[in-house]
Order: sequence, then structure tokens, then C-alpha cells
Amino acid sequence: MSTDQQPSASDAAANRSPGLPARRYLIGRYHEIVLKGGNRWRFVEQLKRNARALFADCRIGRIRGEGPRLIIEIPAAVPDDVVHERAALLFGFQNFTISRPVPLVIEELKRAAVAAARSRGAKTFRIATRRADKRFALNSMEIDRLVGAEVGAALGLKVDLNHPELTITIEILPDSAFMAVGKHPGAGGLPVGVSGRATVLLSGGIDSPVAAYRMMRRGLHVDFVHFHSHPLVSSASREKAQELAAHLTRYEARATLALVPFADVQREIVARTLRPLRVVLYRRFMLRIASAIAIQSGSAALVTGESLGQVASQTLENMTVIEKAAALPILRPLVGMDKNEIIVEARRLGTFETSILPDQDCCSLFVPAHPETHARLHEVLAAEAQFDLDAMVAATVAKTEFLRLEFPRITAH
Ligand code: ATP
Ligand code: MG
Repeated sequence: MSTDQQPSASDAAANRSPGLPARRYLIGRYHEIVLKGGNRWRFVEQLKRNARALFADCRIGRIRGEGPRLIIEIPAAVPDDVVHERAALLFGFQNFTISRPVPLVIEELKRAAVAAARSRGAKTFRIATRRADKRFALNSMEIDRLVGAEVGAALGLKVDLNHPELTITIEILPDSAFMAVGKHPGAGGLPVGVSGRATVLLSGGIDSPVAAYRMMRRGLHVDFVHFHSHPLVSSASREKAQELAAHLTRYEARATLALVPFADVQREIVARTLRPLRVVLYRRFMLRIASAIAIQSGSAALVTGESLGQVASQTLENMTVIEKAAALPILRPLVGMDKNEIIVEARRLGTFETSILPDQDCCSLFVPAHPETHARLHEVLAAEAQFDLDAMVAATVAKTEFLRLEFPRITAH
């Protein structure tokens, strides 16, 4: 499957020998991937590629799959908090540990557990062993008991199986044991890329970053399109979109942000149509332009942060009329969520604070306080008959600025 080799006796030796860097392994346990049958390898290979990309600046070593887990060799120079930060971004892991190899000998396990538990300031602890290789003479419970007794005796800590201050995990694999302090929640979901590509319409608001996150978590690699009305308004929304897209790119290592100047299209709409229909017309133009950009970059769908009934443009009637302008299917992961639920996710994702910075959304320009909520397609089509749609889309795409986002670096090209 790959050229990855096994870490083993030499790793354990390195860990023991004073003066040599202690080896560590990031061990991630699969989330939904465990449910995959014959094509599981495809998901695992994508996860390996994603791990390499997210650790691109860390010179990580071998990566190998071992049952329901991925084992990634971490160089000594990379601090634990960096490993932790990156691992938490990798969709596909249910949880992960930063583990050290220990020889498959019970005395070594005891010694390593005492060393791991020492000076951590904990009063209670538990040992949590998983024995993936049943050939090891002792079973998980016996290992828990023997190692636990040693830690208790050596350091005076008490075992607490339900709410320990310290959990030491031990995994028994065929060629080595791995020990870690604590187990961290992974990002869950499916590895970015296994579901294909999509393009997210990213406003500066709260919803669309959450929508992007949700679709990446379903295995989509996403690129971003932002419409701005600079110079009619300040460039605040553009800067916000850039910051949000950079934040989201940390989950997928690379993405493109298309910054679309929308002011000329808006001027034309304002010059030729009445106020009530303008929001619907803006939206239909956005979808046409986003479709053109998405198709160019190989996307198979568009993603929006729409939620049914949230604002005037998101009634069922309007969504139906608006989506007819798109050349690709539209995914709306937030359609059934209310604003509070979305805000909780935005906070957890870390986009909320950026999203609430003041800006002027391009869609609020030249529109009435109470726009049309029940747009009728024939009226919209009649209004659009005055425009040379293809030419306007092509002219706008030609003026679009494309930024290449890279995690951890960001450069324009
Ligand atoms: P958000 O918080 O994402 O801005 P919203 O509640 O403000 O959402 P709308 O402004 O109606 O809702 O936008 C609905 C969706 O349309 C957004 O989630 C986003 O996907 C897309 N959208 C709106 N404005 C823009 C924009 N300027 N650039 C790109 N996409 C946009
Ligand atoms: Mg908005």
C-alpha cells in the first residue's frame, strides 16, 4: 500500500537512551472511516496525504495505517502543541494521542507509566489499555491493573476510573506498545478531498464560514468566492472574507479565494430595475458568476450559508427563483438550523469574532428595507431580459482577483 515502514525496537531504544531525542508518534483513530468497507484504503490514503500537507513544514516521518488507526512519526524538533494544533484540524480522526513507543515488556510499560505520570500534579489517574495484538501475554485489564498498581505505589496516586485527573493510554500493537498521556478529540468526519470539490459563497457574515466547515467535514475540498462592492463601500468585507478563508484553509492546507468586484453589476441592476427585485437579481448574478468560477476550478457544486426563512432572500419562493440561475447544484448545510445554533458552531470554529466585525454587505446596497419575499420567476426573467447576462458574467470574472491560500503560509499570486 505504501513504502511506510514500521517503527519499532529502534524507536523504543531511542526513547530510552539518554541524550537521544525521544521519538513521538501521532496516533489518530478513525472516525467514520471505520465504517467503510472495500474502499477504506481510498479514505486512508487521502487522510495520509492530508496529514502530510498539514504538517508540510514539520518534516514528519513515516505514516502507516495499523487497523483502525494511523501512526505518524513526529520529529523531535516539533513541539507537542504544534502536533496537537495540526492533528485537531485533520478531518477523519475520532480522537488522537501523542504517543511514545515502549518495548513490549510489562516491566518497561510500568517504568514508562511511572515516568509519564510523575510531576504532573495529578492526584488521581487511570490506565486505559487497548490490546490490538492479542499475542501479548497479558490482556488489557491485567495490564491496567499491573501498571496502575506500580504508578500508585511509586507516586502515591489514587486510581479513579470515572473522573481521573490523568489518563495514561497504552496501545499494544504487534511490534511495539505506545503510551500517551491524555486522549484528544479529533475533528471527526471524512478526510477533505474524498468527496470531491465545491465552491463556497463566502460573505463576511456568520453563516457561510460554518457552512464551509460543515462541507469540508463531509470530505469536500472547498474554494471560496467573495463578492464585494468596493469602491462603493469600504474594503472591510473583503478583508474579513480573506481572514475567514485563511482560517478555514487550515483544514485543507490549500484553497483559492476569488474576490469578485460586484459594484458594476449592481450599478447596472440599479439603473434598470425597481427596488423590490434587486436582492433577487443580485443573488442570481452572484450564482451565475460563482458557477462560472467554480466550473473553471473543477468544482462540482456551490455551497451557501442559507437557512430557510432567516432573511427576505431565504424564503422558499426566493430560494427557488434564485437557484435557477446556478449552473451547479447548491448545497445548503445550514438550511434547517436556526441562528443560535449557527452562532454556537461559529464560536467553536473560531470565526464568530471576525464575522461580527462591522462591514457593509454588498447585498444591502440600494435595496429597500422590505425587499420582495415572494419573487415570481416570470417577473425576474422579464427584468433580466434587458441585460446581456453572458457578457456581464464574463466581464466580472475577468476582473476577479484570485488569492492562493496556503496553510501555514499565505501568498498572493
Ligand atoms: P452570512 O452570515 O453567511 O452572510 P446571512 O445570514 O447574512 O449569511 P445572506 O446575506 O442572505 O445571509 O446570504 C446568504 C448566503 O449567500 C450566504 O451565506 C453566502 O453563502 C451567500 N452570500 C451572501 N453575500 C455574499 C457575498 N458578499 N459574497 C459571497 N457570498 C455571499
Ligand atoms: Mg450576509
